[in-house]
Amino acid sequence: MQTQECQARDRAHHLHPFTDFKALGEEGSRVITRAEGVYIHDSRGHRILDGMAGLWCVNLGYGRQELVEAAREQLEQLPYYNTFFKTTHPPAVRLAEKLCELAPAHMNHVFFTGSGSEANDTVLRMVRRYWALQGKPGKRWIIGRENGYHGSTVAGMSLGGMAPMHDQGGPCVPEIAHIRQPYWFGEGRDQSPEAFGRACAEALEAKILELGEENVAAFIAEPVQGAGGAIMPPASYWPAIKAVLAKHDILLVADEVICGFGRLGEWFGSQHFGLEPDLMPIAKGLSSGYLPIGGVLVGDRVADTLIEEGGEFFHGFTYSGHPACAAVALKNLELLEAEGVVERVRDDVGPYLARRWAELADHPLVGEARSLGLMGALELVADKATGSRFDKSLAAGNLCRDICFDAGLVMRSVGDTMIIAPPLVITRQEIDELVRLARRALDETAVRLA
Ligand code: PLP
Repeated sequence: MQTQECQARDRAHHLHPFTDFKALGEEGSRVITRAEGVYIHDSRGHRILDGMAGLWCVNLGYGRQELVEAAREQLEQLPYYNTFFKTTHPPAVRLAEKLCELAPAHMNHVFFTGSGSEANDTVLRMVRRYWALQGKPGKRWIIGRENGYHGSTVAGMSLGGMAPMHDQGGPCVPEIAHIRQPYWFGEGRDQSPEAFGRACAEALEAKILELGEENVAAFIAEPVQGAGGAIMPPASYWPAIKAVLAKHDILLVADEVICGFGRLGEWFGSQHFGLEPDLMPIAKGLSSGYLPIGGVLVGDRVADTLIEEGGEFFHGFTYSGHPACAAVALKNLELLEAEGVVERVRDDVGPYLARRWAELADHPLVGEARSLGLMGALELVADKATGSRFDKSLAAGNLCRDICFDAGLVMRSVGDTMIIAPPLVITRQEIDELVRLARRALDETAVRLA
């Protein structure tokens, strides 16, 4: 299919996610046709370094034949069977075992879903069910964060704190509240990062007191906010949050959909920050995005109650534990482990990216360059001295993103924050290329904005 024909047929029938349908129709989609390693290729013959690992998911990189083979073998053996009503199959059994081996020691059960959003719908049902079984049915409120992202189903977007989503999809699921995010560059520069981190935790305590501890079930947060703009919290944040949750006996849900499976240099982001979550939604890197699968890892405290006292849990999806998806996910975890990918992020390419990425802080457009593991962000500013932003009408972030793409690098924009999260198998040489392309795009963006 030629590019223009593909674009026309796409425009005629395809409504894309998170897209202005009309604007896309006028511009035409970019047609991606194949990929290998850390590179994608478009229909016009361009090779592009995928600085976002698809949508933060292709952890093992593109073109891994072992994953293709795992899918093929499983599709031949048993393409589908469900896990409802007391049935199971070997891939689901093996994947559940492997996940619980990799997860923190107190997490010994997993509930499978088809996506990260479905995982968070499951979280909502599980935490409310847990407290009802504990004889505390009033504990129903879940506290999330402004600008947090937990998916696009109604429960997912309600738990998340993305205002444009709430405005379009509302009314949201009741009894969900949001507190401020630990976004120091965007919202806290009048204080030190440490003081700001503690202030954000105080906001959690204030919200709990406002709602009444007896009414609050759980706090949900990404260890590092991804879609909100690769926001790494100040070092004081998580210890202070943990203390508040323990004081008021409130469950912690660490959304590991992005941070899980090596992104931050540990198997789970929670391990990097020393969290002991009660529930961990997972997806994306679980299968390196090769097939859709998600789940919720459940800590013993919640699992024991659901198992011993819960009776039937009226919840599940046709594709919960889908055999081919489970087989691919299992092979993906085995490869991540056998190739030491997670350790490599922690000890080698993560620190290397940190060093190279930090060099971009000298650019006149960059107010802050930050990274952790293989996740990074650049804050674009109009005035480096004051950190003031460009006028919104200039859409500086989108301009930079488009320049980047044309120059051969996928770098995403969240407002005027540029973010990267490349495949975990990226080499030092490819990181050099990524940083070089990013700097070139910043230079051109500066010229276009002048
Ligand atoms: N949770 C987080 C932290 C995410 O980043 C995402 C997707 O980006 C989701 C949940 C939703 O996952 P999915 O798109 O697979 O439904």
